[in-house]
Amino acid sequence: MYCDVLLINPLGSKYEDADEHLGLGYIASYARAHDISVAIIDVPLNGWTLKQAAFEIAKYSCKLIGISIPFQQYAKQALELIRELRAEGFTCHLTAGGIFPTFSYEELFALCPEIDSIILGEGEITFCELAQKIIADKDWRDVHGISYLENGKVITTQVRPLEENIDNFPYPARDTLPLVLKRQPSVSMLSSRGCYGGCSFCSVVPFFSSFGPRCRVRSTENIIDEMQMLISTYGVHNIIFNDAEFAGGIAINRAQTIEIAEEIIKRNFNIHFSIQCRVNDIDYETFDKLK
Ligand code: SF4
Repeated sequence: MYCDVLLINPLGSKYEDADEHLGLGYIASYARAHDISVAIIDVPLNGWTLKQAAFEIAKYSCKLIGISIPFQQYAKQALELIRELRAEGFTCHLTAGGIFPTFSYEELFALCPEIDSIILGEGEITFCELAQKIIADKDWRDVHGISYLENGKVITTQVRPLEENIDNFPYPARDTLPLVLKRQPSVSMLSSRGCYGGCSFCSVVPFFSSFGPRCRVRSTENIIDEMQMLISTYGVHNIIFNDAEFAGGIAINRAQTIEIAEEIIKRNFNIHFSIQCRVNDIDYETFDKLK
């Protein structure tokens, strides 16, 4: 079975804890909007072992494989899968992305020279441009926002600035949502990317602020329309907002948070939803509207 690119969420979380990989969903929908055929392979959601995953992936032929390594604790299994794929005869371009590769690309190349390139920062545009070059058999080494090995030396290309208006990204592809809905009646969404906080131990802000604004928020209409789509297309009644700070931080974006709450009431959504925020974001008036 051929498709231009495979996007892989490798082993990492346990089957019971596995959820949709929204990052890969966003990359897939952006690539599809640019006429690239994409298959998403989610190993934990399928409960596959590494061998089973390699077997399933081997059913495809493709030009490019993108592997997500969100955090350091997932790297070992991701690298094992990459080596397994190479051992199975996958010779196509293999790229990795996520927070850990963005900050530790040199370490990753040292550990796993089987990787051809690493995407630095947010993936949609960079992955799409990389795929377009590779599919067209063009030199990909001038794509901005990547790192690669050349004669044993790590090269990084020009920094790719963040897309300032994240409404410009299509809604994430929901290929794996049916697998999730078999187990749990809830769906994940993002209302923003980044955070206004400054916790010294956290990688969220550096991941975004190294390339542009530390926090970007979707418009109310864009958020509400995706909720509407999820309700009408998938019949969901539980939405979990996975962004670090709902609406980019209620303390600094209270007006839009209230606008979102009022729009949910106006459209009469029959849903439960949960959000994440800092303790200092909580105030009675806003949460009274949200509940
Ligand atoms: S509030 Fe959360 S996401 Fe924001 S910087 Fe602190 S730990 Fe990171």
